[in-house]
Amino acid sequence: MNEQKKGKLNIVGIGPGHEDYITPASLRAIQEAELVIGYTTYIKLVQHLLNDKQIIRTGMTEEIKRAQIAIEEAKQGKIVSIISSGDAGVYGMASLVFQVLEEIGWKKGDNPEIHIYPGITAINACASLIGAPLGHDFCSISLSDLLTPWPIIKKRIELAAQADFVIGFYNPASGRRQRQIVEAKEIISKYRPGSTPVALVKSAYRKREHIVLSDLDHFLDYEIGMLTTVIVGSTNTRFFEGYIYTPRGYTNKYNILEGTVKEGQKPGFSLNLESL
Ligand code: SAH
Repeated sequence: MNEQKKGKLNIVGIGPGHEDYITPASLRAIQEAELVIGYTTYIKLVQHLLNDKQIIRTGMTEEIKRAQIAIEEAKQGKIVSIISSGDAGVYGMASLVFQVLEEIGWKKGDNPEIHIYPGITAINACASLIGAPLGHDFCSISLSDLLTPWPIIKKRIELAAQADFVIGFYNPASGRRQRQIVEAKEIISKYRPGSTPVALVKSAYRKREHIVLSDLDHFLDYEIGMLTTVIVGSTNTRFFEGYIYTPRGYTNKYNILEGTVKEGQKPGFSLNLESL
């Protein structure tokens, strides 16, 4: 029997945009590919790695086509890398590839093989530029209502705000979509003071990187667009020397400078609430 050569589909997160922040594994996954597929902006970010490779660039709204082509070409026996910025599994191409695979009845072990390479997602990249805002529990919410009904997104904002998560907003606004971040602010303001730290990080680790540190009352005075991630602090998040950080609770248990345990507390055991 003429057995077809198995192809390989790499789903690759390329990090925020600067070559120092792509992992060696993702780099190899791109280098070994015969065909690289991605949204035009991301292809540009890794252009210098592509040399003589076959490249398929597609526009923003052509994701489904991109996933289908990637699978089809890999099935033919090629090594194909489909790339997303940040992590491909975070509002990226990975889940769409799985959805297409499910629809076409792909089974584990079938052609093509699937490999997934993680990348530094925007919330981590942006956090590193402003301090340590994610030091305690956090979540991310995409404000894009292109594929998710707005009432569902609103409910998530409401509950995340109520639960005092630090919130990273992906897709906060675009040319046509400006209303969502305004509503998000109104919801969060019911639960957190106007002085809560908010960071707007645009194009982290890219040429046009721009950072604004503001607060809940004032952050809407600044430009927020498609390349911005908005990080809203919890009620514990604070400003310190030009940074924003969220303490983890060490001072509930320890005297930080002395390195000693506070009275009534025990290392390795749950916090004693009566001594707080
Ligand atoms: N897969 C990507 C997210 C894609 S959704 C990841 O893991 O990072 C697109 C949104 O991600 C943008 O609207 C923006 O909110 C955020 N984003 C992506 N790259 C960014 C960067 N370099 N700086 C700031 N925000 C970024």
